[in-house]
Amino acid sequence: MNKVNITEYKGNAKSVCYGKATLYKDFQFADGDEFFYKFIGENSCHSMIELLHPDDVAGFRKTVDMIKGGVQYAIVRMKNAKDEYRLLYLTLKENGEVIDDFAIIEMEFCDFMETKERYSDYKSIIRKYHEFMTLSTQMFFEYQFDTDEFMIYYYMDEKNYPVLQRKLEDVENAVDAKRNISDKSKAEFDTFVNTIRNGVDRFDMTVNSEVIENNSGYIGRYNIKGSTMYDNGEKTMVVGLIAPVSGDSMQKSYYLTEGALDPGTGILNKRAINEYALDRLQKCKKENNRMYMAIMDIDDFKLVNDKCGHLVGDEVIFKAAEIFKNVIGSRGMLGRFGGDEFMIIIDGVETEEELKRILKTISKNLTWAFRSLKDRMLVTTSCGISCFPEDGHTYEELFMKADRALYIAKDKGKNRYVIYDDKKHGKMTGSRSLIRNSGLRAIASSEKKTEIMSEIMLDLHRNGKSALLNAMEKMMSYFDIDGVAIYQGSRMKRVMSKGKYVNAIQELQCMNDRGYRTLFDEQGVYAESTIERLDTIYPMAYKMYESQENGEFIQFAAFDGGMPMAVVAFDFFNRAPKIGANDMNLMRIVGRMMAEIAGENW
Ligand code: GH3
Ligand code: MG
Repeated sequence: MNKVNITEYKGNAKSVCYGKATLYKDFQFADGDEFFYKFIGENSCHSMIELLHPDDVAGFRKTVDMIKGGVQYAIVRMKNAKDEYRLLYLTLKENGEVIDDFAIIEMEFCDFMETKERYSDYKSIIRKYHEFMTLSTQMFFEYQFDTDEFMIYYYMDEKNYPVLQRKLEDVENAVDAKRNISDKSKAEFDTFVNTIRNGVDRFDMTVNSEVIENNSGYIGRYNIKGSTMYDNGEKTMVVGLIAPVSGDSMQKSYYLTEGALDPGTGILNKRAINEYALDRLQKCKKENNRMYMAIMDIDDFKLVNDKCGHLVGDEVIFKAAEIFKNVIGSRGMLGRFGGDEFMIIIDGVETEEELKRILKTISKNLTWAFRSLKDRMLVTTSCGISCFPEDGHTYEELFMKADRALYIAKDKGKNRYVIYDDKKHGKMTGSRSLIRNSGLRAIASSEKKTEIMSEIMLDLHRNGKSALLNAMEKMMSYFDIDGVAIYQGSRMKRVMSKGKYVNAIQELQCMNDRGYRTLFDEQGVYAESTIERLDTIYPMAYKMYESQENGEFIQFAAFDGGMPMAVVAFDFFNRAPKIGANDMNLMRIVGRMMAEIAGENW
């Protein structure tokens, strides 16, 4: 494959789509930036090899073999989110880590043909200036010649916060309509307007605050410095700085001050994000915009502290905040609500799809970022989301509903987001403090359970297959299992099931995969409480379990000479309850016996 200098391509085509991803074992995607996920969509659950055009696979593998500590380039055809093949230019290098004998690969890609979205080289240059602007506490202004749009704004976190945004003509009319403006102020203002309308190259002047309504509360004189910008010899806009004269300080919103930052993470603190949310809500009401309020809480964070220590816990919070912030970018604002809880206000997404993509990207990137924690512990979050205007017009209403959605997300087994839906969740009561203290459902005492299990086993022993149905029903009711299914024969077909399955798995094909079978312990039991883990190891299996809405399952297999004869599955839908050791033991004994019986000839 020919080497191509990537900069040549970037230089010629400013409008390439550009993204990054990390590849690991079996060429699965471990993480990626959002452009990558946007490009690839749901296809991220496939291995890269599956997505490549068949004719390009061999060449790609060869290129990977040649990396060996250096950098390799490749041009391939790969499927995007819509299953269309796109011509991609890849830069591949190892990141130095080796996991499961595979040298992890960092991949950058450019989509030559993409013209709709523009992620050009200029992005980094623009970012640099945005960074400067963020450091400044001054106000900025811009005037566009073609639209007559005039805007005064603050800059923070790579975003502008307009304090005034109107057509210049409207600003003029508003000033004209004011009765109590001194002639001097009016004359200064007129000069200012003429100066920018005429596109004077550089100027430096003062105006009185009374002509510029900007809600800042400042009364006094402003110094305005500006200059006109040209494109191809034509005036395009005037930009500049507005600052109070003689060091008068302006009264800024609390969230724009330094005190508003959480010391641990550098993001907004609780008071600041609350205030910000209120501010944005007003703005969205005025402009008829949508706004999402998301509350995020790290799952089982106490475990991280317990197993890895508080210092690692702190680091996890810090890094999680960084991931949230990077993924959200300029589409929203992030604040720490306290402990392991965050609030995100999002008003810059166009569709719910985009919102979901943000949440999925966050979840993927978190798992990857903390892949090397002790005991392969996964860091996941649960998230509840409400939306203005659908779910409410006040902060309190939105908060209550986002909080309830979070409660549901935790209740369903964590590691998921729930978007509040009045039809589904309106009638439910409960808040997160409730679930933490409730012992879930009333459950039979352990002696009673042991007694019942003995009866079931006796019944199975005496009556064989004809006792299976009774055993299934009893297990469900005594262990609060949502569904029990039995798969049997060489194709692992579902032969019996009990419980409310949506899209019940017809054939447990993954049992034919040797790798999948190794997930079973020597007694033929495989308990999975984090089915998302399968997303990276066995995407096909993950898809099956996901479509069946599994949050957790325990499978019992009967093997004969290494080949599976039958599998009994205890399924939990949309939740992953923590099962106590005693219950687990009882379930294991009965589950295995059921599997042995189901594996006999039918
Ligand atoms: P859940 O899935 O229900 O959210 O369980 P959880 O273990 O995450 O429980 P919860 O959110 O209620 O508790 C969060 C814990 O985080 C409580 C506290 O011990 C710990 N914590 C709070 N702030 C910090 C911090 O700044 N650093 C560290 N290391 N731990 C913190
Ligand atoms: Mg938590």
